Amino acid sequence: MNETLTPVAALQPPKALASMAPKKLLINGQWRASASGKTFESLNPATGDVLAHIAEASDSDVDAAVVAARKAFEGSWSATKPFERQRLLLKLADLIDRDYDEFAMLDTLEMGMPIARSSAGRQRVVGMIRFYAGQATAIHGQSIQNSLPGTVLSYTVKEAVGVVGAIVPWNGPLSQAVWKVAPALAAGCTVVLKPSEQASLSPLKLAELIEEAGFPPGVMNVVTGAGAVGAAVAAHPGIDKVGFTGSTATGQAIVRASAGNLKRLSLELGGKSPDIIFADADLDAAVAGAANAVFTNCGQICIAGSRLFVERKIHDEFVHRVAELATRMRIGSPLDHATELGPLASRLQFDRVMGYINAGHEEGAKALAGGARADTGALANGCYVQPTVFADARDDMKIVREEIFGPVISAMPFDSVEEVVQRANNTSYGLGSGVWTRDLSKAHLVAGALKAGTVWVNCYLQLDAAIPFGGYKMSGYGRESGTEHIDHYLQTKSVVVKLA
Ligand code: NAD
Repeated sequence: MNETLTPVAALQPPKALASMAPKKLLINGQWRASASGKTFESLNPATGDVLAHIAEASDSDVDAAVVAARKAFEGSWSATKPFERQRLLLKLADLIDRDYDEFAMLDTLEMGMPIARSSAGRQRVVGMIRFYAGQATAIHGQSIQNSLPGTVLSYTVKEAVGVVGAIVPWNGPLSQAVWKVAPALAAGCTVVLKPSEQASLSPLKLAELIEEAGFPPGVMNVVTGAGAVGAAVAAHPGIDKVGFTGSTATGQAIVRASAGNLKRLSLELGGKSPDIIFADADLDAAVAGAANAVFTNCGQICIAGSRLFVERKIHDEFVHRVAELATRMRIGSPLDHATELGPLASRLQFDRVMGYINAGHEEGAKALAGGARADTGALANGCYVQPTVFADARDDMKIVREEIFGPVISAMPFDSVEEVVQRANNTSYGLGSGVWTRDLSKAHLVAGALKAGTVWVNCYLQLDAAIPFGGYKMSGYGRESGTEHIDHYLQTKSVVVKLA
């Protein structure tokens, strides 16, 4: 592994971001401290330094945010014309484009995402908002032929669901927040956003720009804090729908909490995705693709292709090539543009991932690359882990069954299409999957047989605002992106009219 020699301390964040003013809650268009006065620290995982103090919302703040969102919804917002919602969203997209460098820096500082990657997200985020701006003017019901006696007109209308609780994780702080907020606003809903306690800064900045764009007070509210704040949002009787992205365990807690008022839910949860390499694939592309499918964002991606199935006749050579690539990756300060792997997002995440790496060693998997923390020189204070490729893995090992959410690949050989499909599907998750082959028939047959929300063929991690994304089984339900996404924020009303 190539640990960059650039000392972490030598790369400093811009002055304005180095000492941030305490961050407040946004409720009804006003930035305010939490009712309890409590705050929590946002830490830089590369250095352990405190980045900012952030308000910890109490239950009464959540109540106030919900009341504000309800008032805004029942007030002028639900009557806002589609063109106006579109105009506001397009304005927001321009503002995010204007300030994108700052967003990229915030995500890099707060969760350790290498600056090259956070900077590369501009088109996705800005494009996503423009996509939903288009959706705002494409909402329509249907006129339906019926077989009722007499002359009866029947049609449907779409109405905004109401107040949306958006609960998001830390692994893509800006993009995850936008993925919830933009469709909600496009549909005419109002929002109470609960960012991850490990990455609140860019969601808060997003809320500032939503205000600057001219959305009325109360349409967007932000309650920062830990899981208890999310739990208060999930259980709140004044919230009509929760859009959640996070772990499967939290998703299950939200399902239970939502029962009180039978909230609508959409859940984007964990994964343990298979990446299948057939011997007839373009192996140069597949080696890079298999590494990228896990090491991107230091493996903190729900769709990480962390179960690498390789056809036996090429297995050893292929896995060695992936391992070689891993050892060459530049690990270092996320502020360095040459860095490919930054730190994990927090000490908690670091401990979790190291626990899995140790379990891999204990269960007999062989680390061909990595297999330890990275702590030489300037990396010593950070949450750095070496990109790890385990060979001799087995389907029953902990590292193969459970989501690691770190830079760890578990490689295993297979002999036939039937066998690999069966093993790939032998998981409680079903989010992403990859197939690498030059045989078109095989690619489509395997794509049809995999139980996963997305199958990438001869590529991986390709996301687009127009392509639906979501999970099978315990990876959740509902789809984000695509034209069906906005339906999760809409109700269908049927109107049946007896004509005289
Ligand atoms: P997490 O479930 O710990 O937290 C997610 C959010 O839920 C945070 O804002 C957290 O404060 C909040 N929360 C915690 N407990 C809660 C409760 N009881 N009720 C309501 N909210 C609560 O997940 P994380 O560690 O932030 O993110 C990592 C997980 O997210 C991984 O499992 C990953 O696979 C998943 N993820 C999924 C997708 C997807 O699109 N499917 C995308 C990114 C991440």
